[in-house]
Order: sequence, then structure tokens, then C-alpha cells
Amino acid sequence: MTRCTIGAVLFLFACFGLIAFGGDLYRLNAAEREDMTPLLVNVANAPAPFTGSDGRIHLAYELWITNFSSGEADIESVEVLGDKSVLHKIEAAEIARRLQPAGMRQSVGVLPKSSQALLFIHFELAQRAVAPRQLTHRVTARFAAAPPGHQKLTEVSEAISVDTRPILRIGPPLAGENYISADSCCDSTRHTRAALPVNGRVWLAQRYAVDWEQLDKDHRIYSGPRERLESYTIFGKPAFAVADATVVSVTKDQREQTPGQYPTDISLGAADGNSVILDLGQGHYALYAHMQPGSIKVHPNEKVKRGQVLGLVGNTGNSVAPHLHFQLMDGPSSLASNGLPYEIDGFRVTGKTSGTAAFDHAEQTGTPLAIIPISPQQSVSNGLPLDQLVIAFPADR
Ligand SMILES: [Zn+2]
Repeated sequence: MTRCTIGAVLFLFACFGLIAFGGDLYRLNAAEREDMTPLLVNVANAPAPFTGSDGRIHLAYELWITNFSSGEADIESVEVLGDKSVLHKIEAAEIARRLQPAGMRQSVGVLPKSSQALLFIHFELAQRAVAPRQLTHRVTARFAAAPPGHQKLTEVSEAISVDTRPILRIGPPLAGENYISADSCCDSTRHTRAALPVNGRVWLAQRYAVDWEQLDKDHRIYSGPRERLESYTIFGKPAFAVADATVVSVTKDQREQTPGQYPTDISLGAADGNSVILDLGQGHYALYAHMQPGSIKVHPNEKVKRGQVLGLVGNTGNSVAPHLHFQLMDGPSSLASNGLPYEIDGFRVTGKTSGTAAFDHAEQTGTPLAIIPISPQQSVSNGLPLDQLVIAFPADR
């Protein structure tokens, strides 16, 4: 224990069982022992288990991991324990794809010294399993700079209760067939990992957002010139109120952007383009973004009915192609709120794409998007459309 001197040495945790007070060193007995925990683990927003379009219960949330040391921490495994049994284990290779230092969109497997990161967790439960009431997280890391024999460390988080507020069941935001649930929950990165520091807090408003696109009969997102709004299958389709609701806010004076390139002059406040936020009750709010100028006929404080047309799909705000961005959240702001899951009460899953890369290619080139058929087609009652599915919504809303 001679190396265990108090001072600038941040690897004090190697000196477990010893703690310094005013320069004196005491050995604490087992009952009083206080350990150094250079890896701090916590969940800021408890997950709300929801049913996906696959009929399974899913949990999607973020684990904050802080490396409170002067050396790198190689995160080797993370186990999620629910009501004391291991529900999910994430190994090193997967951690390296899911761990993002604060403010970064690139993921890392090794947490730099003195840094904080978000681990984006998603797993589904076994069929007919009941959602856990409490979760704890067991994180194992290796600190290469720590003294031999003290390099490996396992930290167990405090137990958190899952969010048990009822999952809102809503109607479809669109009508008709061949819609693609692009960048939906839970392993695509553009929405699920959009952690933003706003007004002094980190929020994930887009955690369960979907960018709805639509294919034509040849499975093209657009045909004709890429820059032309009317080339896009979804352009001009009506967006519907998903429930009886009160209109909170409306933006309707944004001009259309030219498809094929992201605008370079969009402020944070204009990113949603022409948009509507509805208060659905029970602390749930819905955002519809990027609609056409002149198409929104509802006003703040107006009561709307489920199935009522709110506006038409366009390409306003921070958008590269006409689409409907739709999300539910726990506040009336599209930025300073946290995303909430929901379940749409009736739709069919008619196929799926091979993933985001294939979708992006089809969106960039106008070439047909290869669809893997799902046979028989899957009728879903009360499920959240998962990522990259082909969805048919009923004509009757
Ligand atoms: Zn979006």
C-alpha cells in the first residue's frame, strides 16, 4: 500500500479500504468501508417499456457513464439486471458501437480520462415476459493506468424504477400504404441518439421519432428530378391528428427547401419547419414537422378531433427530402423535452428494408428500394412501428 499516497494520484481507488482524512490514514472496518468509485453510472430518464410492432416489450434508454479518473477506462461489459436477474448483456464490441462521449456523434469503446458518455441501450424481452419494475446496471471496465491487480473494476448502479406511466395509444398519423418508418426506434442513430443540451439540461426529444417516407408502386421514394418537391411520393399527403387533442403551437411561415441538400441557414428554432404540436393529455405531446407552407389550417388552443387533417407533408425546416417527422414527447417543446413511446392502435407491416444504408441510398438516388416481403402480412394492434418497416395504415382513421 506504499503507492497509496493522497495527493494528485487519482487512482486512489486502488487503495480500497483506506481513506484519508486531513492527512491521516485510517483503515475502515468492513461495515464502514467506503470505496472509491471512479466509474459513476446512472440513468437520468427511466425507460418506459412499450410494445413494438413485433409484439415484444422493448426498453430503449441511455446510461450515463462518467470516468472520474486520470486514465482511460476500457468498458468491457454492461449487464442490465431487472428485478435481480440479468435481462441483457452488452459486450465490448457492441459497447463500442453504442457509447458516445458527451457532445459526440461518434461512438467509442474506451472512455477517455475525465469524461462522460452516454451508452444507448435497447433490448426486448422474451415473448410473454413481464416488464421489470426495477433496473440496475453492472459495468465492468479496465483501467490500464491503474496499478497491477487493481486494473479491473466492476461498478453497480443504484436501482431505478422503470417509468410505469401508461403508454399512450394513438391513431395513425398518415393514411394509405407503402410508408417506411425511417430512423425509428431503437437502433438507428439519427433520432434515438439525438441528445441535445438545451437550457442547461440534456434532452432526448427524438428518442422515439420516426421520419415517415413513402414508396411509389415501383418502390421509389421519388421519381423525376431529385430537386423537385412533386417528385416525392409522400409530398402533399395529409397528416392527421392521432387523437382528440388541443393545438399547443403552430409554425406555418417557413418556405420549402430544395430536396437533395440540407439547408445551410436554418436556426435551431426553425429546424422543425412548418409544424404543429398537439397536447394529447396525460403529459403527452405530439410533434408533426416539415409540413408545406400554407397547408396548416389549425390554430393554437383549437380543439382537434382524431383523424382531422393538420397539414400536408412538405420539406420545410432542416430537411433533405419531403417527409413527415413525427414524435411524442413529455413537454410542449420539440427540443426541451424527452421522447415518450406510444402505440398505434391499428396498422399492417407488409415488408421491411435491409436497413438504413439501403434506405439512404434509395433516398439519394431515386432507385427502387429493395423490400423484403413479410408473409403473411402482420396486423398490429397497439404497437410502436419499429425501424425500417413498410407500413400500411388504414384508410379509416
Ligand atoms: Zn426526423
